[in-house]
Amino acid sequence: MKALIVSAKWEPRPDYVVSEFEKKTGKAVEGSRVWRHPCLELQDVPQPKPGPGEVLLRVRACGICGSDVHFCETDGDDYMLYPGLTKFPMVIGHEFAGEIVEIGKGPESQGFRIGDRVTVEEMTWCGYCRSCRDGFPNQCQNLEEIGFTVPGAMAEYIAVPVKLCWKVDSIFERYADEEVAWEVAATTEPTCVAYNTVFERAGGFRPGAYVVVFGAGPIGLGAIQLAKASGAAKVIVFDVSEVRRRLAKDVGADHVFNPLEAVPSEVVMEITSGEGADLSVEAAGSPDKTIPEMEKMLAINGKIAVVGRAAQRVPMFLERFQVRHSQLFGAQGHSGDGIFPSVIRMMGAGLIDNSKIITSRYALSQALSAMKRATQREDGKIMIKP
Ligand SMILES: [Zn+2]
Ligand SMILES: [Zn+2]
Repeated sequence: MKALIVSAKWEPRPDYVVSEFEKKTGKAVEGSRVWRHPCLELQDVPQPKPGPGEVLLRVRACGICGSDVHFCETDGDDYMLYPGLTKFPMVIGHEFAGEIVEIGKGPESQGFRIGDRVTVEEMTWCGYCRSCRDGFPNQCQNLEEIGFTVPGAMAEYIAVPVKLCWKVDSIFERYADEEVAWEVAATTEPTCVAYNTVFERAGGFRPGAYVVVFGAGPIGLGAIQLAKASGAAKVIVFDVSEVRRRLAKDVGADHVFNPLEAVPSEVVMEITSGEGADLSVEAAGSPDKTIPEMEKMLAINGKIAVVGRAAQRVPMFLERFQVRHSQLFGAQGHSGDGIFPSVIRMMGAGLIDNSKIITSRYALSQALSAMKRATQREDGKIMIKP
């Protein structure tokens, strides 16, 4: 079968200490400090076989994520930009939906049948480690990630653990066009990351709250829709990209601004009549710029939730958090706590409509062109349709 594969050379930077874990597994914990000269190719690879507890999916749609783009983009020394856990060569793609075409052995497959339409968690938690057993699958100590450390879905077929699959029938009931339903189902994953951030980590907000979202990429766009659907009185969004500001409006943001043209804290204090933001979401990955602004706009009992990734130290003025009775939450992942089924229900109910954020579609045979297009950052979500 055809699959989109990223390869790269293992060349740790001179100051990078390779750990025993990395030597043993061939995985880099900090990808951008280890992988050099990445290259992207459409290759012929053997079709996977589902092992015990796994199902084989025929992939029907797979979205391109910012992480996928960062695999292929490099810095001045030709090191890849993606900073996280990775192993190459690897079939990429982790935002997907597909149809079950084969079921591996094992009692775990009960409840799933050939022909079922599903989307899949990317965080492949083990279920056995202390974090998993304590109810923190996103912090699994034996974590594998689909499209990062195990083969992903920019391919005709993928074998996945059945414990990660969720049926998406309600999405198909909502969208008359099956192809659109597949694409929407493939956007479940980033929306679940937003759900985990807003509700599970930050504990949500009361209806009537003022919510601010920095960064209107797929996670920010998810946060905007979740906030509106959950009764936020105003959702105020900041993004430097004009395309993304327009998408933010399309999915329901009340106010959108370019943070290079307006001072976010001033704008928010004005719009909220001096009361500030009850919840601010950092989905821009620029905390050095956003956190100081978010601090200044904290409502009494305000919350800041950080989901955008940036491996950097950020100055904070803690006095502000004390005086404003405020808190900050770190979020990663999308697993556990009923997040996937809740988001699928919201999509099925029309409370979230990600069909609005899908702007381009490519066949798998055109995947290289699709990735090239993604580097231009002029789209919402780009879909690959094997
Ligand atoms: Zn992603
Ligand atoms: Zn675990």
